[in-house]
Amino acid sequence: MLDLLLPQRCVVCGRGATQLCSECLVGLPRIEPPLCERCGLPTAWPVRRCRECSGRRLAFASARSAVRYDAAVRSLVAAWKERELRRLAAAAVSVVLEVVPPPRAGAVTFIPADPDRGLRRGHHPPRKLAEALAREWELPLVAPLRRRAAKRQRGLSRAERRCNVAGLFAARENAPSSLVLVDDVFTSGATANAASSALRKAGAHRVEVVTFARVVR
Ligand SMILES: [Zn+2]
Ligand SMILES: [Zn+2]
Repeated sequence: MLDLLLPQRCVVCGRGATQLCSECLVGLPRIEPPLCERCGLPTAWPVRRCRECSGRRLAFASARSAVRYDAAVRSLVAAWKERELRRLAAAAVSVVLEVVPPPRAGAVTFIPADPDRGLRRGHHPPRKLAEALAREWELPLVAPLRRRAAKRQRGLSRAERRCNVAGLFAARENAPSSLVLVDDVFTSGATANAASSALRKAGAHRVEVVTFARVVR
């Protein structure tokens, strides 16, 4: 309903007559190789581990994202989260399919919504993104994870974030042996890592993380 009532303006540039104009869609900062093989950070040349992930215990086998989290992407993600704009979801799906190679996995899952927030609105972009990607990749969608309510991540240091999310997720059923774990934004990787760890404990051998956007510091 909201979709029909709100004026149709590009959420990035404010012009045009669609939720995301074609210029802004084309201009989204795609993440291209070379990358860190493990965490997907853009690097000067291909590396197995980079300055951001070396020395960290990571429960996921790889992480890949479609675009850098810049100001334009921040506006897009905010609008996608706050207003359930279908065209933005479709744009995010198309850019992920364009940039991220099809994963070698048996099923797709997603980071569950914070019970204090997402579920109340009944709108959870990571689930929508995972559903669409599962359809395109012709993989089953599964939802073995549940999530406890937690403190907000915003404003916390990287170490505090890691501590805050440890134990945040648990599996309520067995997980398939290989999975793609979908989220909207990869920030420090702490959330993806905690969820991957819960999936591993539930029987997954390999977790590949795929997100629409990634913070690149
Ligand atoms: Zn625009
Ligand atoms: Zn890395």
